[in-house]
Amino acid sequence: MLIPVRCFTCGNLIADIFEEYQNKTNAGEDPAKVLDSLGIERYCCRRMLLTAVETIQQVIPFYEAIQRRKQEVQSELE
Ligand SMILES: [Zn+2]
Repeated sequence: MLIPVRCFTCGNLIADIFEEYQNKTNAGEDPAKVLDSLGIERYCCRRMLLTAVETIQQVIPFYEAIQRRKQEVQSELE
């Protein structure tokens, strides 16, 4: 889902650089060099960015299915 605002281990703010990190790595830059250039040196903070997975596109169909089912139940009740 969303990137955590702070590193779980040390509490360093990481959410503010996530978009820039993502843009650069999606453009094909080496993640290690991007993290170095952004000033993320501790490995606890680096793993927060390296292991972040955007899952919202996989989750959305379930919410849509729940919404459809609610509408079906509602129309059966009327
Ligand atoms: Zn950290």
